[in-house]
Amino acid sequence: MKKIIYTLLILMIILLIISIYLFRQAMGDSVYLSDKPVNYASEDVGQANGSFASSGKKQRIIVIDAGHGGPDRGASSKSGTLEKDITLAVALKLGPILENDGYKVIYTRTNDVIDWQSEKQDLLRRAGIANDNHADLFVSIHINSTNLKNITGTETYYHEGSSEGQKFARLVQDGILGEVHLKDRGIKTEDYSVLRNVTAPAILTELGYISTPSEEAVLKDPEDQEKFAQGIASGIINYFGD
Ligand SMILES: [Zn+2]
Repeated sequence: MKKIIYTLLILMIILLIISIYLFRQAMGDSVYLSDKPVNYASEDVGQANGSFASSGKKQRIIVIDAGHGGPDRGASSKSGTLEKDITLAVALKLGPILENDGYKVIYTRTNDVIDWQSEKQDLLRRAGIANDNHADLFVSIHINSTNLKNITGTETYYHEGSSEGQKFARLVQDGILGEVHLKDRGIKTEDYSVLRNVTAPAILTELGYISTPSEEAVLKDPEDQEKFAQGIASGIINYFGD
């Protein structure tokens, strides 16, 4: 009898050891599985160039370049309207539209103060801001001027050979013309420093002619400036198609 009890006790101890072992196996997996996704998620954030929007998709980075600034006034009209003021006004209207749509916006300037002096430094710094921040797109905003009378219209430049720049230019040109109904001067190529030196698809848009009074009035109008901004934003949003 003693022998049977002894054998049963041994069996119970063996069963207990086996069940403890199986329980630890099961619990161990579940602990690791719950930890793993957290680790992977933080690794993904760390290795990406940009940050993540709350939806989880990579947040696109748009660099907005308000042309000219500081001592560089850009073009000016007979009545004293300055290109640098209009480009800044449109840039500051464009930024919030993009931010509301989930984009990360970086400006090359947000006021009339620039900390670079020569024209060469200026253009390289503007491109550098885009490249250093791993921009997904770069848009430079300008206003046209001419000595000829009654020249009007919007035109957008990209760097020759950049098919993505061409696509971006087309979409922004169409976006602007859809909001502000100026003459379509088309998309063009030019070897501008900012277009050549920015790694991301880059465009330079000339919204209209400050030298033609009727167009100067449009460019100065805050409501029309909002439309220019909306048009550029439409082009950017359509470029990504999301
Ligand atoms: Zn300009």
